[in-house]
Amino acid sequence: MTEAIKGIKLRLYPNEKQRQQLWQMFGNDRKVWNLMLGMVKKRYKNNPSSQFVNEYGMNYLLKRLKQEYPYLRTSDATSFLVVNHNLAQSFKMLFKHRGGYPRFKSRHALRQSYTGRSTCKVIAKRRIQLPKLGGIRTSKTSYIGKAKIKQYTVSYDPTGRYYLSLQVKTEINELPKTGKAVGLDVGIADLAISSDGIKYGTFHTKWLEKQDTKWQSKYSKRKYRVTVAVRQWNHNHEDIKEDISDYQNWQRAQQQKARYQQKIANQRKDYLHKLTTNLVKQYDVIVIEDLKTKNLQKNHHLAKSIANASWYQFRTMLEYKCAWYGKQLIVVKPNYTSQICSTCGYHSGKKPLEVRAWTCSKCGTNHDRDINAAVNILHKGLKAVG
Ligand SMILES: [Zn+2]
Repeated sequence: MTEAIKGIKLRLYPNEKQRQQLWQMFGNDRKVWNLMLGMVKKRYKNNPSSQFVNEYGMNYLLKRLKQEYPYLRTSDATSFLVVNHNLAQSFKMLFKHRGGYPRFKSRHALRQSYTGRSTCKVIAKRRIQLPKLGGIRTSKTSYIGKAKIKQYTVSYDPTGRYYLSLQVKTEINELPKTGKAVGLDVGIADLAISSDGIKYGTFHTKWLEKQDTKWQSKYSKRKYRVTVAVRQWNHNHEDIKEDISDYQNWQRAQQQKARYQQKIANQRKDYLHKLTTNLVKQYDVIVIEDLKTKNLQKNHHLAKSIANASWYQFRTMLEYKCAWYGKQLIVVKPNYTSQICSTCGYHSGKKPLEVRAWTCSKCGTNHDRDINAAVNILHKGLKAVG
């Protein structure tokens, strides 16, 4: 049995009063972030050699901020600790030259959120108790089961909906061993091809993708119209009446666009979850290529980015699921995997992409290009672990 941290995302349905509270809480988090960041900046400006205020220092200052801005007390107090932690973390990244200078947060950001760490518990099938907010209506809570909630994020995203993302600690039973190993070759037409000769297709949903493009273009047009209207109004605002319907249409397009994008992302994720769970059930050892060094072919730009996003998610899921369920994931370098004959090991040189099948000139085996590569990947992986 292993312990694992799992993520669960629920839809939230706050009532009118809770919505107001939430926006106050989003604002409070932003306030604390901006105050702390301003303070650090000012301190540095006054005395560049002064010591950096660390997370503890920031937490110590919270008490004073709450006296100065009493409305901060309406927030889930643990959320400020998370704000300070994140700010201190981004400064750490800055000092290690792995991130840019932290920025002030804007109330106009499309996504608003806060993260807390105190206790919150499931109180009914579709209800959760959250600090300061009380019982709040959610989508089904059955996925949580007996898991312990470690951290929660309440967010309002560009789709115009509220969500609750939970990090829960849960116990996981290992899956039974099957004694089987597999190599996977990635592609664009197919997400992956296995050394057993199975093709796992890339997830596509034509209708949703079309809707997404449609709303994207509506969004751009309306945004342009609003920008022009505002410019005109600024220029000559005596005789032009403020027309907010344009603005509302633009906002609606923005939300529609975000909703279709979210739907596509969710369906793709479901598909990848089913696929990876299946693989982890079937095989004890899974060998994949390190994509960072693999040159995905010069294909249609969009197809490539979709394939990359899917593949990255696919790999991440395989990584943690193998760890959870007692299976092994091996990552090998992709060199020459499509050039070597998997039967006799003969190195037959580079082949153009159009060549989907070939015959080894040494041993005469007929190869499907992708399956042969997958078998080579499997051999490499097994050799690497002995
Ligand atoms: Zn051969």
